[in-house]
Amino acid sequence: MKWTNKGHELDQYAKKLTAGLQNRNKSYIFGAGKLGKTLLPLFKNCNREVVFIDNDTEKQARTIEGIEVVSLEHYLQNRDGFIVIAASIQNIPVIEEQLEENKLQRRIDFWLYQEFVDYFFPIISTYYYDKAFVPLAQICLTERCSLKCKKCAHGCYAVDNQNAKDLTLKQVYKSADSFFSKIDFVQEFVLIGGEPLLYKQLSEAIQYIGQQYRNQMGVFSITTNGTIVPDDKVLKMCKQYNVLFRISNYSGSISKLKLAYDRLTAKLQEYSIQYKLGMPESQWTDYGFEYVNRNASEEELIQVFDSCRTPCREIRENRYYFCVMARSVSENLGFHIGQNDYLDLDALQGEWYKKELLEFNFGYSEKGYLDMCGHCHGAERTDYPIPAAEQVKVL
Ligand code: SF4
Ligand code: SF4
Repeated sequence: MKWTNKGHELDQYAKKLTAGLQNRNKSYIFGAGKLGKTLLPLFKNCNREVVFIDNDTEKQARTIEGIEVVSLEHYLQNRDGFIVIAASIQNIPVIEEQLEENKLQRRIDFWLYQEFVDYFFPIISTYYYDKAFVPLAQICLTERCSLKCKKCAHGCYAVDNQNAKDLTLKQVYKSADSFFSKIDFVQEFVLIGGEPLLYKQLSEAIQYIGQQYRNQMGVFSITTNGTIVPDDKVLKMCKQYNVLFRISNYSGSISKLKLAYDRLTAKLQEYSIQYKLGMPESQWTDYGFEYVNRNASEEELIQVFDSCRTPCREIRENRYYFCVMARSVSENLGFHIGQNDYLDLDALQGEWYKKELLEFNFGYSEKGYLDMCGHCHGAERTDYPIPAAEQVKVL
């Protein structure tokens, strides 16, 4: 979308969403489990009172992390807040039905977890609490990787591991400083790559970001392909700043990775560091960067961009990129286009800057698209399934 009324694009929508919030001063999280707990820092950041709802009568008798757990019947007597469903995929339809039976409406009275974090909360945080909130942001420490996946969405297979330059530590610090000078809270802040565990000064990067900004993020994580066991210095920092390891699971394509995952997870357990090993991935979708060339009009490119809605924001010094794939593929595959397709965080100022930032996150920009959208399947990538993590070289 092209900006036509910068700083005010969402005013009308926000007015509707925030109407009546003063009478609904509590936030109810339906599901007093692990997922529900990840919402607690968001509400704390805005000083909103939180209550859990749970169908489990045993949970209703106690508090969890000091927070009251009530039944749905209890909520219905007061209806003094909105509800966010934080439940497993199997339980969501059951809870939705339960709420709708009680005349509660989705996106008015209750929200599903992801739509809440991606749409509703950023708006109320900005418009109602005057706090800039972003669901996800990442720093790409290195483009080097210990695997060489043929269809890497960052184009890392084309990177020369011997000679490629990683971000300097100064650039990493600058990225975090610029980002957190404008954003009050991020739900998840991720260190990625390439393979971030190849980054030589990883412990220093974690220490700096953790020390300065840990209280401005819900989850602090590292996304890894699981091939490398970090050293003691990195592990200690991860423990100290409560870093979560998200381990991609490519063992379906590369069977010897099972052993690597066992080694890594055993080490993380030894240090009591949280991790999530993904389910084995068998299929990816192809962005098509290497061969798509749309030769499309501006209007068509805007359509491609608007229908894509990638959540993958990247911060690189003062530059805030909407799509980390676009930035990294353009560099790694030598397109060298779209170098100006970012929001300059350091230049962002004035009365409406938090709203401009919110609009950018919702897909507004001067051009309304990225140059790399012309070389990408975008939302249509689901029509192009490919095997997951097929390697360029046989390992
Ligand atoms: S492991 Fe990830 S970053 Fe590395 S080449 Fe494969 S997809 Fe790209
Ligand atoms: S369509 Fe554009 S924004 Fe979406 S993934 Fe492709 S390059 Fe990124």
